[in-house]
Amino acid sequence: MEVIRHLGAPYRAAALSAHSRADELIAQARELRPKVACVTGECDRSSVENQLHHLGVETYFGQTGLIEVVQHPEVDIVLSAIVGAAGLPAAVACVEAGKTLLLANKESLVVAGSLLMPEARKRGVTILPVDSEHSAIFQALLAGRRDEVKRVILTASGGPFRACSVDQIENATPADALKHPTWNMGTRITLDSATMFNKAAEIIEAVWLFDLDSSQIEVVVHKESVIHSMVEFVDGSVIAQLSPPDMKTPIQYALTHPDRKPGCGREMDWTAAFALNFEPPDRRKFPALDIAYDVATRKGTLGAVMNAANETAAAAFLSGKIRFGMIWRAVEHTIAAHTVTPAPTLADLLEADHWARKTAAAWLEKNC
Ligand code: MG
Repeated sequence: MEVIRHLGAPYRAAALSAHSRADELIAQARELRPKVACVTGECDRSSVENQLHHLGVETYFGQTGLIEVVQHPEVDIVLSAIVGAAGLPAAVACVEAGKTLLLANKESLVVAGSLLMPEARKRGVTILPVDSEHSAIFQALLAGRRDEVKRVILTASGGPFRACSVDQIENATPADALKHPTWNMGTRITLDSATMFNKAAEIIEAVWLFDLDSSQIEVVVHKESVIHSMVEFVDGSVIAQLSPPDMKTPIQYALTHPDRKPGCGREMDWTAAFALNFEPPDRRKFPALDIAYDVATRKGTLGAVMNAANETAAAAFLSGKIRFGMIWRAVEHTIAAHTVTPAPTLADLLEADHWARKTAAAWLEKNC
């Protein structure tokens, strides 16, 4: 909303959606006057509809309502920032309707990259990354040809447990896990940064988004979160994108691409001395990375399984049912128990998601 306000015309919010925070949606609608709005979660529907009707906003509800909103003729660009696999139906609907898709919801690609990317290519639909690392890679790729790319270096802040021991990490509490050192984000993605399942998802996201082999992706821990990722070309040159950790920058780039407009995010301060640090990630402390390389190599239904098992285990951890170290174990177990479907349909992916949630929950029930 801040970026839209900053950019001004011709950018405007034609549609807004929220899951549980209907009151904030109504407050935003009062200011931005969209044509349509949708609330996907539980709410007092008649009250929400009444309030929005007074503002001249057509109102929809639930997942089906969200699809109506995404495909609405007033909408030409969709920014999907839905949390988790719940973002998939809207992403599919967006591509099918031929609308430009700005993806902050990485799970759409983790779960269904094998469907979304070919469908987007077939329909000539542009999918632009909003995830800061992928925005950086997308920008760095402009420095050369695709056949000149050697590898991509995904940077990771390392999360709150970068400097902790394996034992400390094993028994970390939700309060420990929700303290992110550099980025201000929602609960799910902050917890995923602590387990590094966020970086795991980003490895898979990069494979689909940029048509890379999993072996072309390197993860490096960079605790300052100033370099958002890099591309190394065959001649040895490495192109990096730098900016302070502020999501307004990648959101605005996705909106204005291929142009650049004056920004509204934080700016680099070159008048003060500062250092940038890099170190390889500790694979023993963060097994999510090896899990991701396996998933990004074998593909099929495994992305859906990894994501669903992680969502299930993360929720169990946040509600105090399991210790931190059980999250990756639940994911690893669920993947090991899964029979991969190599070229999955959307139905296969949804079925794999459902199966993985059940399997992970049953395993956690038995092992905690
Ligand atoms: Mg990211």
